[in-house]
Amino acid sequence: MCHRPFGGLLSSTDHTPRLLRVALPTPLRRLFDYRPCREVPTCGWRPGLRVKVPFGRRQLIGVVVECPERSDVPDTQLKSVLACLDDAPLPDDWWWLCRFTARYYQHPLGDTIAQALPVALRQGRPLQARHQERWIARDGDTGPLERAPRQAELLAMLRQHPRGLMTRAITAQGFTRAQLEGLQAKHLVECHEERLTATEEESGSRLAEPSLPLTREQAGVLAEIHEGLERYHPCLLHGVTGSGKTEVYLQLIEAVLARGRQALVLVPEIGLTPQTLTRFRQRFRVPVVALHSGLTDLERLDAWDAARTGRAPIVIGTRSAVFTPLAAAGVIVIDEEHDGSFKQQEGLRYHARDLAIARAHRENIPIVLGSATPALETLAQARSGRYRHLRLTQRANRHAPARLELTDLRGRHRQGGLIAPAIEAIRQTLNAGNQVLVFINRRGFAPTLACHACGWLAECPHCDARMTLHRQPQELVCHHCDFHRPLPDACPECDSGDLRPLGSGTERTEETLAALFPETPVHRIDRDSTRRKQAFEDILREIRRGEPSLLVGTQMLAKGHHLPHVTLVVVVNADAGLYASDFRALEHSAQLLVQVAGRAGRAEHPGRVLVQTLHPDDPNLRLLADSGYEALAGQLLEERRLAGLPPYRHLALVRFEAAREQHVTEFATAAAEALREWLVTQDASVTCLGPVPAPMERRQNRYHMQLMLSDTRRSALHRACAWLVQWLDNHPDSRRVRASLDVDPQTLS
Ligand code: ADP
Ligand code: ZN
Ligand code: ZN
Repeated sequence: MCHRPFGGLLSSTDHTPRLLRVALPTPLRRLFDYRPCREVPTCGWRPGLRVKVPFGRRQLIGVVVECPERSDVPDTQLKSVLACLDDAPLPDDWWWLCRFTARYYQHPLGDTIAQALPVALRQGRPLQARHQERWIARDGDTGPLERAPRQAELLAMLRQHPRGLMTRAITAQGFTRAQLEGLQAKHLVECHEERLTATEEESGSRLAEPSLPLTREQAGVLAEIHEGLERYHPCLLHGVTGSGKTEVYLQLIEAVLARGRQALVLVPEIGLTPQTLTRFRQRFRVPVVALHSGLTDLERLDAWDAARTGRAPIVIGTRSAVFTPLAAAGVIVIDEEHDGSFKQQEGLRYHARDLAIARAHRENIPIVLGSATPALETLAQARSGRYRHLRLTQRANRHAPARLELTDLRGRHRQGGLIAPAIEAIRQTLNAGNQVLVFINRRGFAPTLACHACGWLAECPHCDARMTLHRQPQELVCHHCDFHRPLPDACPECDSGDLRPLGSGTERTEETLAALFPETPVHRIDRDSTRRKQAFEDILREIRRGEPSLLVGTQMLAKGHHLPHVTLVVVVNADAGLYASDFRALEHSAQLLVQVAGRAGRAEHPGRVLVQTLHPDDPNLRLLADSGYEALAGQLLEERRLAGLPPYRHLALVRFEAAREQHVTEFATAAAEALREWLVTQDASVTCLGPVPAPMERRQNRYHMQLMLSDTRRSALHRACAWLVQWLDNHPDSRRVRASLDVDPQTLS
C-alpha cells in the first residue's frame, strides 16, 4: 500500500473563499462546486466541514474537500451551499482515511464518505456529544393535573424515583414526551442534561480484574511488541488456537491505556459475540464501546462520538469500525486477521486489515495482526521482515493442538455423510461423557435433488447453479439468488417419481445423528438455525454446560468460540477447496480446517480430529496434516511466486454485469481493447487478462464477465486502473452494463 499523506489539505481559509468543492453521496466519480453560503462557520471555511446543498430537486449532505479558485462550471450556474452543519471539521484521522480509501480503491469520494460516516451524521445530525435527559419530580401542588390523568400518573411514578428517570425509561412505560413537557411547563418536573456515557474517574486502577500471569512465550511476545509502542510497528501474532493471544491483546491494551491512549480492536462479525466483549468488559474498568450491526443509528453515533472524543478508551468493532475516529490512537489490534469478513464484497470493496495497516502507518502507532492461520499476504510480510513475526507455539493449557487424521472416504458407505469409523469414534466420545463437533460446510438437507431414472438435477432457473434441498421447511432453495420453489412430485424431464437427495448438508447429518444417537441432544448451527437473534448464543450456552452432546455446524462454528468439552471434531468432507479454480481456495480451506480442528480439546481434554476425504494422498492435504499450516503456507507462497499471483503480483479485477449477455460481452471486450491500446502507448508493464466469463456466468438472470489486471508494482497497476475507470465511466454503454473495480480481490468469482 501507499502511505503518502495528503499534505496541506487541512489548511483553513481566513477569508471567505470564492468556491467550495464538495463530495456528495452519489455514484458519480466527481466532486461538485458550490458558492459558500453567507453564514461563515466558526472555524472558517475549510475541508472536512459538512454542508447541505441543493442537488437537482433534492438536498444532499456532503463534505467540503477543497476551496478552489476556479471552477469549470460557469458562474451563472453555480448554486450556493444552503448551510454548514459543523462548527469544526470532521476528525482529521477519519478524513485522511476516507481520502486514502477512495484513492486506493478508486472509489468515488462521496460514496466512500457516506460509508465511513454513521447514518445519523449522514442525515445531518449534530456531531457534538449527545446528552441524555434525566427527569426529576419537584414538590408542589398537583391540583392543576385533575384534567390530565396521564400526567398525574407520570408524576406519581417519578416521585417514586427521587433521583429521577431517563427519557427512555419513561417512554418505555408508555408515557410520551409531550406529557413530560406538560409537567415541565407546570413546574412539577425538572429536566437535567447529562452526558450519555460518563467517563470513569481516572483514580485507581483501570483494571477491574487482575491480568493472568503470562506464560514465558506470552511474556516474550508482549515484550517485543512493547519495543515499538511509540511508533508504527506492525506485528504478526502467530499463535496456535488457544495459545492466549487474547490475553496478550488485553495486557498490551492495558499498557496503551496507561499512556493515555486508545485501542481499536477489529474482530470478524462472528467473533463479536458477547463472549469476546465480555472478556474486555470484565477486565477493564473503562468504557468499552462496541460497534456492531445491532446498534441503532443513535447508538452508533454515540459510539462514534465516544471514540472521537476519547470518552471510550477501547473501541471494538467489525470491518467498518476501521473508520472510527480516535482522539488519541495508541494501538490497533486485528483478531483473526485472515478472516474473509474483513473484506467488503460489494460497492466499496475495501479490506479493513489493509486500511488498518495504512492507518497505523500514518498515525505512527503499533498494529498487531493475530491469527493461528495468517493470510499468505501477512505471512509473506512477516517472512520478509516488514512485519515482526511473533509466535505462540503452545496452548496456554499446555495441550498441543490436535493433529488432523486423514480418513479415506473412497468406496465407503456413508450415512448422513459419515463413514463407519467416524460414527464409531463419535460413539466412543459420547460414551466417555464428552462432546462432538461435526463440521459440514453446507447448510440445508442435501446439495441437490437428482432423478435416479434419467439423471436430472434440480437447477436454479436464474443462475448457473444447483438448488439446495431443504427439509425445514421442505423446499428447493438457490443459495445464490435465494429463489425458492416447492419440491416436484415427479421428474420434470422423464416424469419418474424416483427423486432422491444427492449428498449431505447440515440438516441431513443432523437427522442421521439424531437417529443413530437417540439419547444424545443434537444441536445444529448454521445460518438457518440461527436466524433468531439469540439462537446462536443460546445454543453455545447450552453446549458450555458440558453435557454429552453433538454439534453439527458450518463454518459459523469454526471461528474463535471456546467449546471446552468438545474432544472430537469430525470434518465430513475436506475436499471442497482442494481442486477449486480460485487461487485462494486452498489457502482458505486450510485455514478453515485448522480453525475447526482448534475447537477440539481446548480445556483439560486432549482432542482428536477426523478429516474425511476422497483424496487422502493429496500432497497439500498431507503436508497440512503432517507438518501444519505454516509448512503448507510456505509451499503455497512458493507456488504463488512462480505463478505470478498475490502477494508477489498485485491484482485488480473489473467485473461487468448486465441482463443481456451480448451487452456484457461487447462492453467488456471494448474495455479490454481500449486498455491494451493505452498500455502500449504508456509502455506500461501491466498485464491484462480477459475478458472471460465469471466462474458463475449467470447469476440472478444477469450475465457476468471479468477482466484481470496485474503488475508487480502497485503504482503501475494503480495508474492503469485509474485510466480504465475513467474510460468506463465515460462510455455510453456504462448505462446498461455495470462495471465495478475490485482492487486486491479476495476471490475471482
Ligand atoms: P487465543 O485467543 O489464542 O485462541 P485465548 O486468549 O482465548 O487464546 O486463551 C485460551 C485459553 O487460555 C483461555 O481460556 C484463557 O483464559 C487461557 N489463558 C490464556 N493465557 C493464559 C495464561 N497466561 N495463564 C492461564 N490461562 C491462560
Ligand atoms: Zn428424470
Ligand atoms: Zn439462483
